[in-house]
Amino acid sequence: MNPAAKALEPGTVVNVAFDDGQPLGTGYFNPKSLIGVRLLDPAPDTVIGTGFFVRKIEHALKLREALFARPYYRLVHAEGDGLPGLTLDRFGETVVAQITTAGMEKLIDPLLAALEKTVAPANVILRNDAPARTLEGLDEYVRAAKGTIGRVAVEENGLRYFADLGSGQKTGWYYDQRDSHAFMAGLAKGRSVLDAYSYSGGFGIACAKAGASEVVCVDSSAPALALAEESAAANSVAIKPVKADVFEELERLALAKERFDIVIADPPPFVRARKDLEPGAKAYRKLARLCAEVTAPGGFLLLASCSHNMPTDRFAAECAAGITRAGRRGALIRQASAGPDHPVHPLLPETAYLKALVYALD
Ligand code: SAH
Repeated sequence: MNPAAKALEPGTVVNVAFDDGQPLGTGYFNPKSLIGVRLLDPAPDTVIGTGFFVRKIEHALKLREALFARPYYRLVHAEGDGLPGLTLDRFGETVVAQITTAGMEKLIDPLLAALEKTVAPANVILRNDAPARTLEGLDEYVRAAKGTIGRVAVEENGLRYFADLGSGQKTGWYYDQRDSHAFMAGLAKGRSVLDAYSYSGGFGIACAKAGASEVVCVDSSAPALALAEESAAANSVAIKPVKADVFEELERLALAKERFDIVIADPPPFVRARKDLEPGAKAYRKLARLCAEVTAPGGFLLLASCSHNMPTDRFAAECAAGITRAGRRGALIRQASAGPDHPVHPLLPETAYLKALVYALD
């Protein structure tokens, strides 16, 4: 790296050009990050101020308003919406922002001003506690930039859930599984359901509401399960919360010969960095095996991976190997990704991080 570039403060807005001087656009630069430059605009010398963010947010908002009748969605999905380093999740009057780069952190004032001019939310929560921030030399903090931090209602597929924006995981809710929540609910009537890595019941409560005969939610987080129980009650259904490690609980259930008509496993990322690919792949295979062991004959199994470093083909191969290892056969009936409020940048395939495979087992 040339010394002048190296001396730039992390997050400085710069013009980016090819070797021959041909301009590539305006971006921000961090000499300390593995990804040195992230592009913001294809034109050089673009002023990155409130006006820039207003244009981007309005564009993102227009897409969401075309997709959803109610204001509950991911409003900005980083590079997919042309705003690298920024996630905005909307819960009605509340917007949760998560910033993961030094460049975006420096632009927080024009970002917040633009949010006020476009969405004008009552509450703006900065959930700047993502571990990825350390790679950019940023500290971790959570605060309300406007209004208060607390519990909100989430509307999804016609149901209402609760999310805790201060202490919940990520930005509080997993909107990325919206379509898969609905798909599994569509299979649930009269069937028993095991929702492993349930968080606050995105799958389990949708299945219960659709008429499942029994729903067991397994998660290691007590607060996540407490919210799931409250959301279930608010929807006049019941779930059985089990606070446990999923691998241990599956082994216990398999030994006890317990079976469920529908098994769902939506774990945290097992492959956080590329170097974790092999151990992560092995963990996905083992999870698939254990899940298949507790799936009843003729049942359905959803296996998900949110690791962007886990290629879809490899994930499908590991799932297939695990199912076979359990002595089961079946067909892949659905291959889904994140919902359309998580747009994928066509040149950045890693922005398509979520895989959700559904198998019909014999
Ligand atoms: N399925 C959920 C999202 C799951 S997020 C939805 O659709 O909304 C992953 C969840 O896995 C988190 O709630 C986290 O608490 C839980 N988790 C992480 N490690 C775990 C483990 N070893 N055993 C059980 N749960 C775990």
